Amino acid sequence: MDTDTQDRAQAAPRALATEAVHAGRDDLAGLGLHAPPIDLSTTYPSYDSAAEAARIDAFAATGLLPDGPPVYARLDNPTVGRFETALARLEGAADAVAFASGMAALTAVLLARASAGLRHVVAVRPLYGCSDHLLDAGLLGTEVTWVDPAGIADALRPDTGLVIVETPANPTLAEVDVRAVAHACGSVPLLVDNTFATPVLQRPLEQGARIVMHSATKYLGGHGDVMGGVVACDDAFARQLRQVRFATGGVLHPLAGYLLLRGLSTLPVRMRAAAGSAAELARRLAADPRVARVHYPKVGGAMVSFEVNGDPHRVIAGVRLITPAVSLGSVDTLIQHPASISHRIVAEGDRRSAGVSDRLLRLSVGLEDVEDLWSDLSRALSAPPATPARTVPAPAKPAARTTDAPVREPSAAGR
Ligand SMILES: *Cc1c(COP(=O)(O)O)cnc(C)c1O
Repeated sequence: MDTDTQDRAQAAPRALATEAVHAGRDDLAGLGLHAPPIDLSTTYPSYDSAAEAARIDAFAATGLLPDGPPVYARLDNPTVGRFETALARLEGAADAVAFASGMAALTAVLLARASAGLRHVVAVRPLYGCSDHLLDAGLLGTEVTWVDPAGIADALRPDTGLVIVETPANPTLAEVDVRAVAHACGSVPLLVDNTFATPVLQRPLEQGARIVMHSATKYLGGHGDVMGGVVACDDAFARQLRQVRFATGGVLHPLAGYLLLRGLSTLPVRMRAAAGSAAELARRLAADPRVARVHYPKVGGAMVSFEVNGDPHRVIAGVRLITPAVSLGSVDTLIQHPASISHRIVAEGDRRSAGVSDRLLRLSVGLEDVEDLWSDLSRALSAPPATPARTVPAPAKPAARTTDAPVREPSAAGR
């Protein structure tokens, strides 16, 4: 075997569906267990302070987790560690580091790069509303340049620490060519937010990305009852992320780690089933005269976005089976109006130029029967005008922002 073949054989000896069920659990039979144990300890006994000091020093210097029992739950937790191992396997990564939320994960990545003096970020819109806001507001001392994928190479500077893309992007489902973008990044690490596709449909590290992040709150958990974030990457960056996590404290709770590990075991079947319904709904919406435009990505998946000819607020008010709510990736179908909710925090001009029109609705398709979903959606599309009490007025002014930064003109990133 050549080295490549050997590497592949070692990195991916089992199919994704098998890894989803077994990764992070390989030691259980040896422990005489079937379900993974939940370790809720915040601290661990140690009768040898000198040895403990050496273990803490080693972590501080290298970011490597100490051998033996954990020291304190902000360094490391065995239940969370199982989820990290499993997610790394699914993404084909050397390691993964879990956080309290997707935003805590992105924060840790930005801080890890900024602490190396690399404070400049190049990013492609649209991104999830709060990711956009975190970068645009410069809250973490980073500076962002927004570009088209074609403008990435020209936007790189000596202090550029990261390039960020989402594909398919929230909420327009716009896709970027990860291979081409990774090439344009040169030696600057490319972070792909893989929340929408999940490793079931797309493994960005195989296409040249260096860092993959997820809002685990969405498909990885999959049941709308756990919040988390995770970053899959190489060993060196994982060690830096663990040091940042220790210092800043955005840890994933062990119960959340347990639920996320359990979520992974059904991720492939959930994703394929929901994606089948989503593709069918996208087809019907595209043929429907009440709908102006449908966005459904080439990579597939369970998200569909569409622009209605009428009032989008009527559709939201008109659904009965589908839940009008922010978030996505659950077993039940959710719908929301990005301009009002998920992307509200992005300035109106930036939102519009990124393709987030005021008529856009974002549908996260769940596991219900597709005919039931279509009849609910179809009835909502014909809903009578909302009663005044339920009408959500269109914003008269640019969206509220938490900084007083001037609203920029629409950038070239719009589509
Ligand atoms: C929800 C979301 C996030 C943020 O994740 P939280 O878990 O809500 O902090 C980041 N990126 C994408 C694409 C998302 O959909």
